Amino acid sequence: MKKNNLLLIGTHNDGKFKEISKLISKKIKKISPKSLKIKAPKETGKTFSSNSELKANFFYKKSKLISISDDSGLEILALNNKPGIYSARWAKRSGSFEKAMIKILKKLKNKKNRKARFICSLSIKLNEKKMITTVGIIYGNISFKILGNKGFGYDSIFIPNSSKLTFGQISAKKKMKIDHRSIAFKRLKKKLKLNKFFI
Ligand code: IMP
Repeated sequence: MKKNNLLLIGTHNDGKFKEISKLISKKIKKISPKSLKIKAPKETGKTFSSNSELKANFFYKKSKLISISDDSGLEILALNNKPGIYSARWAKRSGSFEKAMIKILKKLKNKKNRKARFICSLSIKLNEKKMITTVGIIYGNISFKILGNKGFGYDSIFIPNSSKLTFGQISAKKKMKIDHRSIAFKRLKKKLKLNKFFI
């Protein structure tokens, strides 16, 4: 198999691996860092893009394969855009996503403004010199309750502007058509003119 037909999806999160894989042509063979015994780097960046680039660079260097990585999270306006790049770490520190969501709902109890957005930065490292990064954002509001169990992470408290339901209440298929990751991915596809590579 040609190296160009091999893509490393730089994540150790199985859910994310599946979600990113589904956005990419079946003709491309996808490999995970886990299967190559490559550990994850520390996410030391201060922005989503610096983290996605740091990860894509790291996995490219370790595997010498074209590597794609993302960094994503939830920003809540009334909480000064927190948890932001710390979304995964907030959940870990809280004990679970459910506990982190309860904490957020408590913090927003007396707040009128419940505006929030999911952000995804996607980076692909193509060779030693070339890295392309795009960002996708979906705007919405934080619900008053935890609703639905179809998604992952903070899905059950996020209502996108185009819907009355939380991401936790809609199917993964529907969510993937509109979410921050798919917006970033469409932009990446356009930038790369990769229609032959990713269909
Ligand atoms: P990352 O692996 O550092 O990008 O962490 C992203 C974290 O942000 C995830 O663990 C989730 O907590 C949250 N997150 C990102 N995208 C989504 C989504 O589509 N739904 C729900 N939570 C998300």
